[in-house]
Amino acid sequence: MLQHQREKQLLQKYLEREVVVEQMELEPVSNIKGVGKETAELLREMGINNIHDLIMYFPYRYEDFRLKDLAETPHNEQVTIEARVESMPTVFFMGRKKSRLQISVLAGRHIVKVVFFNQHYLREKLIPGTIITVSGKWDRGRQTITATSVKFGSKDDIQDFEPVYSLRGSLHQNKFRKFMRQALDMTKEELNDCLPRFLREQYKLLPIDEALEGIHFPKDSNHLKQARRRFVYEELFLFQLRIQALRKARKEHEKGIAIQYDLQKLKEFINQIPFDLTNAQKRVVNEICRDLKLPYRMNRLLQGDVGSGKTVVAAIGLYACVTAGFQGALMAPTEILAEQHMASLESWLKPFGVRVALLTGSTKAKERKMILEELEKGDIQIIIGTHALIQPDVTFHNLGFVITDEQHRFGVEQRRILRDKGMHPDVLFMTATPIPRTLAITAFGEMDVSIIDEMPAGRKEIETHWLKKEQLNASLVKMESELKKGRQAYVICPLIEESEKIDVQNAVEVYEQLRTIFQGRYTVGLMHGKLHPDEKEQVMRDFKEGKIHVLVSTTVVEVGVNVPNASFMLIYDADRFGLAQLHQLRGRVGRGEYQSYCILLANPKTDEGIERMRSMTETNDGFRLAEKDLELRGPGDFFGKKQSGLPNFKVADLVHDYRVLEVARQDAIKLVNDEGFWQDNQFKYLREMLEKSGALSGERID
Ligand code: ADP
Ligand code: MG
Repeated sequence: MLQHQREKQLLQKYLEREVVVEQMELEPVSNIKGVGKETAELLREMGINNIHDLIMYFPYRYEDFRLKDLAETPHNEQVTIEARVESMPTVFFMGRKKSRLQISVLAGRHIVKVVFFNQHYLREKLIPGTIITVSGKWDRGRQTITATSVKFGSKDDIQDFEPVYSLRGSLHQNKFRKFMRQALDMTKEELNDCLPRFLREQYKLLPIDEALEGIHFPKDSNHLKQARRRFVYEELFLFQLRIQALRKARKEHEKGIAIQYDLQKLKEFINQIPFDLTNAQKRVVNEICRDLKLPYRMNRLLQGDVGSGKTVVAAIGLYACVTAGFQGALMAPTEILAEQHMASLESWLKPFGVRVALLTGSTKAKERKMILEELEKGDIQIIIGTHALIQPDVTFHNLGFVITDEQHRFGVEQRRILRDKGMHPDVLFMTATPIPRTLAITAFGEMDVSIIDEMPAGRKEIETHWLKKEQLNASLVKMESELKKGRQAYVICPLIEESEKIDVQNAVEVYEQLRTIFQGRYTVGLMHGKLHPDEKEQVMRDFKEGKIHVLVSTTVVEVGVNVPNASFMLIYDADRFGLAQLHQLRGRVGRGEYQSYCILLANPKTDEGIERMRSMTETNDGFRLAEKDLELRGPGDFFGKKQSGLPNFKVADLVHDYRVLEVARQDAIKLVNDEGFWQDNQFKYLREMLEKSGALSGERID
């Protein structure tokens, strides 16, 4: 597939250190004329250590010098004209440094005024008859341009686009552009293209030298467009290539367990489940079972909206594992969730003679001792629990399959410990956070992804309404009418970023208010992040058991907790939440047979905020909301600031370039599965890289 040995080496090099250009890699910036010690230091601060870094330092925007016709330029828009100075400049001084210089110019057939602020020194140069190219903001009424930049001479000598770089200190655009010009001229002959020729030809992408030229000094808008197109593909392709290479290496390298489950028994089990699986559930069950059977280690992410029925899928997977003589484990982030899983799994699995046990922090010492013994002997086939499962003294007989629910609540380390208790157990992560595909294949690119994108039949859609804050009373009336029917309600308090203290204060305030309002009629409970874990569990338990009617909470309200009797949710200041989070919160209601309601109280100040409120009232589909969220907030904010796991692309944009991402991913998969690619020493290197990145222990590659 790869035509040249050379290209192969370059790809390998990229995988190693992400270098695009080889030879100049170590050539210092001081080799550029005009770069002295001080400038070199500034460049270093910008992350530019050598000439390769320099040419890969891209402009963040361009000054647009394309000529426009004034007659067609709307008021207040940026415009560039070529013109002849018609009048002597007049200058007014306003204080020592401030000045206003004005001239009349002839542009085509228009006589217009051009105003320069604080550039009175131009007075000598702007004499009548001079040809200038000037850009600035067009005031249509006054027929005046307020100049932002002026060049002497006709437009023919000026490029359409001038790069603007993000610079430090005393470094100026013009100076930096000169460095860039030199660097590009110096390296032109030596550039090696890291994109294989066949891909370049297939997509008609510019070769590296023309692309770099086009990114820094585009001849015209098409040149810039083509340069961008190439780098978008390059970034996404090389990124995917690395992920796919690692994935393949891991699959081939790590010997997992082939779990030869008993298909007949599994079918009988599925038939006995009190409802029919949805098509989506059937599909993911097949994906999981196929993985179990393969001698690779499963590393799969199961995504399914709240209430889509992930638990039963987990149960089927665990039972499959049991029929092959292995143990399975299901780990949940809280005791309540673990208990909930225990109740479901036991009711489904007990009739099939499977021993299921629960191990949490509250398990009594004596019982715990027994469980540990039976677990070690292999008498317990499925263990469900919290962190208690990963204590040092917990030993398995033959752990084959580990499932963690709500994976984002678990630390990487904890998952590793649990996995390492088995030989090479298959691992399935379940999450109720719908992640748009573009992000999933980027941030979780090394995992396989299964998606349940269908709700069990007969679910009632949650009715969502957006009300203004002034309508709080109306919301409370609605809430009370639900309480009267015997239902329960959640009240979610405003989230104030950066201040958990204020969050808690807010919750306490709302709690006190509601307590007064409902006094003698309904019990109000309070839940927030500052409560002790035991207190939290107790509050949730009371709510679950119906002892609390109205639960006031900050966003800590437990993920995945099932209180089917709760049919009403009120969210204060809903515009402060992202769509994904609102959807998560809303998922706490509508889990039972009752029609459920969600009221968003919000007076959003931005169009985006209004858009979010609208989206929430329009759909209950978590994936659609996630896509919308991504569109509105961008990929960086989607996962929250810290642990996005997304690479920083210079040119590519995961939202707009998702089609390229798909194509690049397919190309990368094809390439790493090409035998030629894996010959020679390449595998050796990849192994080292895998070890370094922790990929061999199944962790995320960041
Ligand atoms: P989640 O994906 O949020 O963890 P659960 O597994 O808790 O969802 O399932 C929510 C509810 O839907 C449970 O009561 C479960 O028994 C039920 N359920 C799951 N799958 C189906 C199905 N195919 N048909 C009907 N009910 C189902
Ligand atoms: Mg669940």
